[in-house]
Amino acid sequence: MAHGTICHDGAVSEARRPHRVVILGGGFAGIETARALERRLGRRTDVEVWLVSADNFMLFTPLLPEVCSGVLEPRHVVTPLRAMLHRASSWAITAEVQAIDLDAQVVTVLGGDGDLHRIGYDSLVLALGAETATFGIRGIEEHAVGMKTLADAFGLRNRVIEMLERAEIEDDPGERQAQLTFVVGGGGFSGVETAGELEDFIHRVRKRYYPKIGDREVRGYLVELKDRLLPEMPSDMGAYAHRKLTGRGYQVLLDTPIKEVAEDHVVVGDGQMIPTRTVIWTGGIRPAPLVGESGVEVDKGGRALVRATMETSRPGVFAIGDCAWIPRPDDPGERAYAPTAQNAVREAKQLAANIVARIDGRELRPFRYETIGTLASIGAYTGVGVVFGIKVRGLIAWFMWRGYYWLRLPGVNRKVRVGVDWLLTVIFGADPVQLKVEDVHSALGSTGRRRPPIRDEPGSS
Ligand SMILES: Cc1cc2nc3c(=O)[nH]c(=O)nc-3n(C[C@H](O)[C@H](O)[C@H](O)COP(=O)(O)OP(=O)(O)OC[C@H]3O[C@@H](n4cnc5c(N)ncnc54)[C@H](O)[C@@H]3O)c2cc1C
Repeated sequence: MAHGTICHDGAVSEARRPHRVVILGGGFAGIETARALERRLGRRTDVEVWLVSADNFMLFTPLLPEVCSGVLEPRHVVTPLRAMLHRASSWAITAEVQAIDLDAQVVTVLGGDGDLHRIGYDSLVLALGAETATFGIRGIEEHAVGMKTLADAFGLRNRVIEMLERAEIEDDPGERQAQLTFVVGGGGFSGVETAGELEDFIHRVRKRYYPKIGDREVRGYLVELKDRLLPEMPSDMGAYAHRKLTGRGYQVLLDTPIKEVAEDHVVVGDGQMIPTRTVIWTGGIRPAPLVGESGVEVDKGGRALVRATMETSRPGVFAIGDCAWIPRPDDPGERAYAPTAQNAVREAKQLAANIVARIDGRELRPFRYETIGTLASIGAYTGVGVVFGIKVRGLIAWFMWRGYYWLRLPGVNRKVRVGVDWLLTVIFGADPVQLKVEDVHSALGSTGRRRPPIRDEPGSS
C-alpha cells in the first residue's frame, strides 16, 4: 500500500482510505484527465484526485503568439487550475515535481515554501508535457527566445519593443540593422504563427509610433531545416503560408539549419551570417526529462512508451500528452499520435475512463481518435488549414481558426475576456507598452536558501 489516511490519533488506517490518483502536469493532458475523472466519479468518495503542476494555471498555447503581439492580455490565455476542479476530493497543488519513485509509489515535489513534500499514490499519470529542445545548437540557450511558455511570449514582446525603442535613437547603421532584424527558427506551426503575428504587430506599431524607422528597414527571416513550411499540413498549404509570409517581407530560408546563435548575429546554412539581436527558436520540443528519469520505458526521444490504453511499463502508471508515445491502432508498430493539444484532450478522456475501469476491475480500452483537422493563423487576418479533409485558406481559414479556439477556451470567463481583447484590438489597434517585470524571487533569494526539509503529506506513509 502506498499510503493511508491519518486518523485523529495519528495512526494510519488502511481500511477507509480512498484510492489516490496523482496527476503530474497541469497542461491540456493533465487538467483534462482530472476533469474527466471528476465527471466519471461524480459523488464517489472512494477515489481522490491530486493534480500537481509547477504553475497554478493552465496555459492555452494556441493563443500564445497573440500574447506576444499584445492582442491578448497574458492573464486571459491562462485559467487557474483550482477554478477548473469542482469535486470536494480533488486537489490542485502548485509545486515542482523533483523525483518519482515508482517502487515506493511516492512523488517528491518542491513547494513554494521551499520544502520538499512526498506524495504517495495508487495510480499515477505522467502528463508533464515537453520543453524547448535546443539540439545542442551553440548559443541558443543563452541568446534565443523560445515560444513555449507565458514567460517566453511576454519576454519576446518586451525584446521586440526594446529593439524598436533602441533603433529609434541608434546612429550606427550596422547596429541599427541588427536591432531591426528578427529571425524565427523553425517553420512548423508555432514558428509560422509566431512569424506572422510578429510581422503584423511590428507593421502596426512602427507606422504609428516609430516614425523614424523606415518601412524597408525591418527585416524578417524564417529559417526551416526541412524543404517546406508547415510539414504537418499538405504541401500546398505550406506553400501558401510561404507565399503569404514572403509577400509581407519575410525571407523564408528552406533546407537551412541554424548553426549558431550569438548576441548580435545568427549563423545559418553554409555559414551565412545574419546580424540580429532577436532570434526566436521554435525548432523542436523534447519530453520532460523526469519521464525518462522515473524509470518507465521510453523511446529514444525520451517519451514514455505506452500501450494503446496509455499504460506504461509499470502497473498503475499512465502517460499521455506530449510526453507519451501512444501507438495508433491502425499502425501500432510505426506511428504514434502527434504531440498536439487536440490529441492530448481526447487522450485524457479515454485515460480517465481507463483509470476508473482499472480501479473497478474492468477491462481497459485503447485510445482511438481521428483528427478533425488542423488550422494555423499566419497573422494579418490570414489562416491556412485542413478541416474534415477540406483545404481552407485566407480570411475564412483565419475566422475558422479564431472561432475554433475561442470555442475551445475553458469557461465563459475566458471566452468573454478573449473576445473583448479581440474587439478592443480591432477598435484601438496594437500598442507598444513594454512592461519590465523583475523577478521578485531572484531578487529576494540573495539571502541564501536553506536546504529544503522533506515532509510527508498526510496519507503518504
Ligand atoms: C506556441 C504554441 C502553439 C501551439 N498551437 C497548437 C494548436 O494550435 N493546436 C494544437 O493542437 N496544439 C498546439 N500546440 C501544442 C500543444 O500546446 C501541446 O501539444 C499541448 O500543450 C500538450 O499538452 P500536455 O498537457 O502534454 O503538455 P503541456 O501543455 O506542456 O503541459 C505540461 C504541464 O506540466 C507541467 N510540468 C512540467 N514539468 C513539471 C515539473 N517538474 N513539475 C511540475 N509541473 C511540471 C508544466 O508546467 C505544464 O503545466 C502549440 C504549442 C505551442 C508551444
